[in-house]
Amino acid sequence: MTRRVAFVTGGGRGIGAATARRLAAAGVAVVVADRDLDAARAVAAAVDGLAVRVDVSRPDEVDAAVDEAVAWGGGLHFAYNNAGVPGVRAELGVYPDEVFWRVQRVNVGGVFACMRAELRHMLAAGGGSIVNAASGAGVGGVAGAGAYVASKHAVIGLTRTAAVEYASRGVRVNAVAPGLVRTAMVDGLEDFEAAHPIGRAATPEEVAEAVWWLLDGGSSFVTGAVVPVDGGLTAQIPGLS
Ligand code: ADP
Repeated sequence: MTRRVAFVTGGGRGIGAATARRLAAAGVAVVVADRDLDAARAVAAAVDGLAVRVDVSRPDEVDAAVDEAVAWGGGLHFAYNNAGVPGVRAELGVYPDEVFWRVQRVNVGGVFACMRAELRHMLAAGGGSIVNAASGAGVGGVAGAGAYVASKHAVIGLTRTAAVEYASRGVRVNAVAPGLVRTAMVDGLEDFEAAHPIGRAATPEEVAEAVWWLLDGGSSFVTGAVVPVDGGLTAQIPGLS
């Protein structure tokens, strides 16, 4: 059997890196794409994959990176469009224009450009599976995070649309919606962590496991789904729990 190939954006750290490792453990050849080439190289070296530098907010760079992935791997079966930025913490009344649009260009424009490039190859080869990085912030508002919230709602819209457009042509498109994930960033977010009914943040590996399930054939009838990986965060009615 030919080795299956995955393209992972933002693969240099966090959830993307954990997903690259999870895919490699399943025998998938992984292309680790990140705007931080050193970080991508470190992960790629550990999984015997390919590191590619890309800024996902630049469609020309995305097209070139996906072409490079396909040339290296001989095809493209899986993609996890995970690269993203949080923006700044500010209420909408004073949210800076420049940051707002930067967040949309990376988080929404990146997913759009990546899916467009990936779909070209997947459709030519008769199928594939794509997972996009949404968030609990894609299904509800978060005070002080308007740009990020808007971008993740848009990622869910793109995911559902792509799922509907390509379901009959062998490409499934889904999203994961993590709550808080335990990274270096978590320090100082103890209250947010406690708000998860499970009582803690996720590990990057717990999100990677869900991504792998959505990518692989075990989820063959799942498309257009937004899978919460949030310890019950978005399932609860706040104040009643
Ligand atoms: P998470 O906790 O969601 O995994 P991180 O901030 O730890 O988030 O990782 C996000 C990754 O996405 C980083 O490796 C970062 O370099 C990458 N990234 C951010 N913006 C871009 C971009 N425009 N193009 C490509 N990669 C990006």
